[in-house]
Amino acid sequence: MSSNVSVCVRFRPLSHKERKANGDKVCFKRLDSESFVFKDEREEDVIFSFDKVFYEDVQQSDVYNFLAVPIVSDAINGINGTIITYGQTGAGKTYSMEGPSILHCNEQKTGLVQRVVDELFVCLGSSASMWTVKLSMVEIYLEKVRDLLDLSKDNLQIKESKTQGIYISGATEISILNSSEALENLSQGIANRAVGETQMNLASSRSHCIYIFSVQFGSTSDESWISYAVNQDCLKQVSILAKATTGKIILVDLAGSEKVEKTGAEGRVLDEAKTINKSLSALGNVINALTTGKQNHVPYRDSKLTRILQDSLGGNSRAALLCCCSPSPSNAPESLTKHIKASPKI
Ligand code: ADP
Ligand code: MG
Repeated sequence: MSSNVSVCVRFRPLSHKERKANGDKVCFKRLDSESFVFKDEREEDVIFSFDKVFYEDVQQSDVYNFLAVPIVSDAINGINGTIITYGQTGAGKTYSMEGPSILHCNEQKTGLVQRVVDELFVCLGSSASMWTVKLSMVEIYLEKVRDLLDLSKDNLQIKESKTQGIYISGATEISILNSSEALENLSQGIANRAVGETQMNLASSRSHCIYIFSVQFGSTSDESWISYAVNQDCLKQVSILAKATTGKIILVDLAGSEKVEKTGAEGRVLDEAKTINKSLSALGNVINALTTGKQNHVPYRDSKLTRILQDSLGGNSRAALLCCCSPSPSNAPESLTKHIKASPKI
């Protein structure tokens, strides 16, 4: 990996509908855990390589261990991190983030968000006077940032300051003391997400959903914090010279990336699709700039999404992009993404 951005692919299992249409046929052939062969639109084989390929038999915990564990431990050490799920509607973005349901699912199916929260509180330990964890949840819908924890705030502005870095001005921040408090608030935010109807999926999400966890360490006197920090196993690498560290973990469940024609969209739905495609292209441009080493001009200001992610994607932050794909041949053109040319070895 030449940058701090890792790009991975996840194929979900074939759905019942896909099996009915094409039997067990899939659009790729496994090579190894980093590459697969894909049939392109001209039926030619193309080899794609990524930092990791998760096939349909991969567990949620495997995805979490590869993508999120380093990001959680870095956040406690004051380094920002981002995990993004990308792909067409129905490809498995929300399943990867939230599991089948954020509140009601078994350990095996638990998604990234809950695993991040659980690990965070295990790492931080029980002495809550030593740290603060704050949760914000927003969605970007038609280029407007809406507060999912307070729907009266429907056009929040993104700002930047020396002390806070990039922040969403006025966004609700809830202090969280444990996993169950976090899940209660997260499920409220999830219930508030905008859903629209397209021919692709009756409840497809038309907004980008952004979960932000800010972790601040060292809220009490330096000495007690330092001895607490070194006693926590996952804090061995913490710089004990720093007085206080603040790290952000941002998780993003993107809106569906499907092509406008395929959604049968018109009117407001067409506006949604165009806006979504524009911001996904902006994200693609930023990620391409970061992964190809062209870092002197990274176009963060081209969309609200990339602006919010600015200090959690570039610099010394760590990011992971999970491109979710349907394995069905009928979705092959969509799976060959036009926004993010992520494969370095095509
Ligand atoms: P998206 O958020 O990309 O629109 P979803 O995450 O809602 O797609 O997934 C679509 C359907 O596929 C859901 O019914 C979901 O439970 C199922 N699904 C997605 N990924 C997996 C997976 N890895 N294993 C099992 N079921 C999955
Ligand atoms: Mg979804």
